[in-house]
Amino acid sequence: MTRIGFIGLGNMGGPMAANLARAGHRVQVFDLVHESVTRAIAAGCIAAADAREAVSDCEVVISMLPAGEHVRALWLGEDAGKGGGQDLLAALPAGTLVIDCSTIDVASARQVGEAARARGIRFIDAPVSGGVAGAAAGTLTFIVGGEFADFEAAKPVLAHMGQNLLYAGALGAGQIAKMCNNMLLAIHMAGTAEALALGVKEGLDPSVLSTIMGKSSGNNWSLERYNPWPGVMENAPASRNYQGGFMTRLMVKDLGLAMALAEHAHSAVPMGALARNLFNLHATQGQDTRDFSSIVELYLDKKQDS
Ligand code: NAD
Repeated sequence: MTRIGFIGLGNMGGPMAANLARAGHRVQVFDLVHESVTRAIAAGCIAAADAREAVSDCEVVISMLPAGEHVRALWLGEDAGKGGGQDLLAALPAGTLVIDCSTIDVASARQVGEAARARGIRFIDAPVSGGVAGAAAGTLTFIVGGEFADFEAAKPVLAHMGQNLLYAGALGAGQIAKMCNNMLLAIHMAGTAEALALGVKEGLDPSVLSTIMGKSSGNNWSLERYNPWPGVMENAPASRNYQGGFMTRLMVKDLGLAMALAEHAHSAVPMGALARNLFNLHATQGQDTRDFSSIVELYLDKKQDS
């Protein structure tokens, strides 16, 4: 049994913490939203009054927060309004292993990681892929940056939340790999939606067309595992009105991070930039909290009022 502190119990963090508790670890949790803490207690976690209490006497501490500003606020004490200014690194003894699973900008990951290292605290950036279904099933992919020895030390804990534990390289490399992946995901989701819409407008059945492309050179993860057309795949968000998946606004955030990375690398990303524009447009049409595969609706004819 490992004593684990877990901060951030949202769509992803909640089921991840629950899996750790289910595996027999002592999981002390905190979130700014009380209902999320209540759900975690029901799953076997132990509630803490605040973030400091959650990390006390823990060998491993995990954070799963929305963006870089939240991570900097929690760990470094930078003020981010409500809940900011924790300076939590100061509360940890040297040797503690900190695992940040949030998808954030590389600079923030490195800043927090270097501040941790200066205090003798081990830190890895470990963003995830696999969505809320993967978080609930414990089948996430972890993409890790930091010292290889720290990655190895984290493995027994990560293994209770994920299936694929992948080392990307030095501090920040996990975030870089995650951004490359999500930029590619956005591109093939938009492309899949476009191809399906074209075929359906020309009279094809979306399920038949999906099967054909799935057995042909157009096959990809969006088509095969997360089909954007309603009714083609029973368990996909498309078949439950695009609820409960990966929100369009989080994809827009990740594409923004990928664009900043491309700027830094002086790398041309024309497909990524187009995907960012498409998802941004979609988000501004009232779709920001629906699953990102609802992008398919951009390609459908809208009825005109006469
Ligand atoms: P979410 O908004 O559902 O959860 C974030 C949680 O952090 C919230 O419950 C919020 O109250 C809490 N929080 C924020 N600041 C806090 C603080 N100072 N102290 C304690 N709690 C605090 O977001 P999510 O969908 O769980 O995503 C979390 C991260 O994982 C994001 O970076 C996202 O991009 C990434 N991600 C999400 C998915 C997905 O499918 N949802 C998939 C892969 C990666």
